[in-house]
Amino acid sequence: MKFHTLAQLLLAPDDQEIEDFNVLDLAYGIEHFEFSPYNRPPFDRPTPEMRARLQSLRARLAALKAAKASMRRSTKTVKTVMCDCGHSIAADAVMNTSSGTSCPSCYDRMSR
Ligand SMILES: [Zn+2]
Repeated sequence: MKFHTLAQLLLAPDDQEIEDFNVLDLAYGIEHFEFSPYNRPPFDRPTPEMRARLQSLRARLAALKAAKASMRRSTKTVKTVMCDCGHSIAADAVMNTSSGTSCPSCYDRMSR
């Protein structure tokens, strides 16, 4: 199911229906929305379920953002390069031999 607005997320019958991408799509609203008597109904008088939903959406968003950030970190550190031995390995594991760069398992063969 596709949710287009935060209102739809808050009123969704079941947490299970809300996908991770829905949470990310509506991240701004999830972070900044506040229940207030000035909201249009039914958001002027939220039910406990609606309050709980907003809490759980915020928790999910925080978890998704943390996961994304750590993914970005690891792709940055794990840069893969192709060695002269023909294998692709992490850049910081590349070894230099007399016949070019090699991965650790080809090192002995390549340094002969
Ligand atoms: Zn190799």
